[in-house]
Amino acid sequence: MPGQRIVEISVTPIPVQHIKELSKVAFGDNIGTHSTEWLVRARTDGGLEGVTIANRFMQQFTGFDKSIGTIRGLVPLLRDVFLGRRVDEFLEVSDGRVVGVHQTFKEAFWAHGWMSILAFDLLGQEMGVSCIELLGGQVRDRVRAYDTTFFYQDMLNPVKAAGQVGAEAGESREYGYTAFKLKMGRPGRWFAPQAGLERDVEVVMAVREAVGPDARIMVDANFGYDGRLDLLEDFIRETLPANLFWMEEMVTADVSDYRVMRRMRDRLGSNAMLVCGEVDTDPPSPVFVDLVEAGLIDGYQPDCVLAGYSRWQALEEWLKPTDVRSVPRNFGNATFGTRAELVFGAASQTFLMLEDERFLPTVYADDDVSFSDGHYSIPSGHGLGLTVDAERFQREFSANEIDVR
Ligand SMILES: [Mg+2]
Repeated sequence: MPGQRIVEISVTPIPVQHIKELSKVAFGDNIGTHSTEWLVRARTDGGLEGVTIANRFMQQFTGFDKSIGTIRGLVPLLRDVFLGRRVDEFLEVSDGRVVGVHQTFKEAFWAHGWMSILAFDLLGQEMGVSCIELLGGQVRDRVRAYDTTFFYQDMLNPVKAAGQVGAEAGESREYGYTAFKLKMGRPGRWFAPQAGLERDVEVVMAVREAVGPDARIMVDANFGYDGRLDLLEDFIRETLPANLFWMEEMVTADVSDYRVMRRMRDRLGSNAMLVCGEVDTDPPSPVFVDLVEAGLIDGYQPDCVLAGYSRWQALEEWLKPTDVRSVPRNFGNATFGTRAELVFGAASQTFLMLEDERFLPTVYADDDVSFSDGHYSIPSGHGLGLTVDAERFQREFSANEIDVR
């Protein structure tokens, strides 16, 4: 039986709101309270609707003279890849699992991984199965999420300083999160080096105090210790009592720096995993291949929506014979990203935790996914199990909908 055809596509910038203001990070100024979800809706002649987001295309804006990051570039890209195509044309399926991308779409899905997630969503709906099945089948009955909203919150409240981050982590623990990622790297830009190191350590200790001994605490320096391996050594030593779960991008990916950092970690007796790779926009780039092959990292982090399902499937095949875990980054992917990574994590053997930006409810309808004890339950719906709330969309957002023709 021939598959359904995609007959309508639209893209809509949806405002999404964080639970609080997010402060600075090693390399940049305040993230703020809002961001944008570039919602893509694709409808078929049989009445199915698939979704993805074009954030990873729109965020690459570098000027109106180029098509990347503009509507002028996005509309023809969506039209050429999706409009008029059959839902079963995109992905290769064997025994109910997706095993690859059909030749015609390989290049597009590699360059724009978020497009592959739309193809999965529509195919799952047409086959009447969850994308979790298409990705290989469910391997866990819930997915742990970590609260990733601890930026330099101490700088929003200089009087409370590290105590501010501790207080916010305590509230998150009370809400139900059991894992917390803290932005580090203060020596790099916003503080004098020694003062930055001291604040980083104080923040870690304040959060450990607030969340109790069993919670997971991860730190992410966004390269803020570049050129200061001496301060990094002090950081690792002084945070030993906090028992960090992972250290992320403490320095820029580099084989010799990671060799030094790994030895330092082992010598000081830290158990923290070393993870990196969220900046890899063409994964796996050569330096990450080297780090994996040399056994110098424990987790690899290409973005879930940037790489998309098809590319992450290939990455997992590559990582399979190694001890490196899948830790897809999920920042800037709005509410859609939370669902996309939940589905991926439900099916991935080596997945660790979902990066949760904690957006307030927006354009999607309520469904059967719940959050408790630090974990999301698994969606039971077909495809991604994610449905746009048509009435709310019409009322609040449809004025900004752009038709792809
Ligand atoms: Mg990071």
